[in-house]
Amino acid sequence: MEGMGGHFPMERGKTMRKPRLGVFKFTSCDGCQLSLLNLEEEFLAVVDLFDVAYFREATDKPLRGTFDLALVEGSVSTERQKEEILDIRDRARSLIAIGACATAGGLQALRNWASLSSYKARVYPSPQDIHALSTSTPLSDHVHVDDELWGCPVSSKALTEVLVAFLLDRRPALRGYSVCMECKRRAVPCVLVSKGEPCLGPVTRAGCDALCPSLDKPCYGCFGPKDDANMESLLHRFRLLGMGSEECRALLDKMNTHAYRKAHVESRT
Ligand code: SF4
Ligand code: SF4
Repeated sequence: MEGMGGHFPMERGKTMRKPRLGVFKFTSCDGCQLSLLNLEEEFLAVVDLFDVAYFREATDKPLRGTFDLALVEGSVSTERQKEEILDIRDRARSLIAIGACATAGGLQALRNWASLSSYKARVYPSPQDIHALSTSTPLSDHVHVDDELWGCPVSSKALTEVLVAFLLDRRPALRGYSVCMECKRRAVPCVLVSKGEPCLGPVTRAGCDALCPSLDKPCYGCFGPKDDANMESLLHRFRLLGMGSEECRALLDKMNTHAYRKAHVESRT
């Protein structure tokens, strides 16, 4: 498969140019950018190997020029962001969506199934000052994304893999299987089978090393639906546990609500 990094040929007698990295934020809590900063040792290596040309969480460099790699956190939730993401796409050779907000619209996508005006009235003292779209959508609804790093927040390991893969001009090796595989690998007892707890692990992409099941809790779906997730089958299992439609819906309606609902519709067709 083709890599994302492209080539940085070194001309004889010249130093190789460092790839320009931009880190951008849309509607989000900044948690995924913090995952990047939390890399600590590895982040220092990133600073060494990349030209960190734009990263408002870490530097005050203004937005200028083009980027070899853009990491974008957050969902598109305002008219202005619709224009900004097009601008970033134009500037970036490779654009990667990082985190549930950027890949699935985030928790703020709950409004996609509700009335924005009623949310605004309940949350803000001056709702008339809030200029937001009635939906919160993933970046891929607006521009081509070269890859997606799921998770709320994204895992530091996956971020490192993406950066290394870019430098080596190869596809990042991201896990395509479900959280159940991580449980099996860690010999974690299954909370769905042993305790009858509604666990989203069978339909959720791996990446957390089965953190919640390893603490005897069901998976809450932080990493979003895996490809070809059989949502209908899992929800049928939940109904056998005595759960009603509302309870099932509440399980799905979290930070990846947009993606799980879409996967549910697809699993029924
Ligand atoms: S995906 Fe989660 S951690 Fe990342 S910015 Fe969105 S809400 Fe924050
Ligand atoms: S606990 Fe959840 S994620 Fe782990 S094996 Fe059981 S269903 Fe799968």
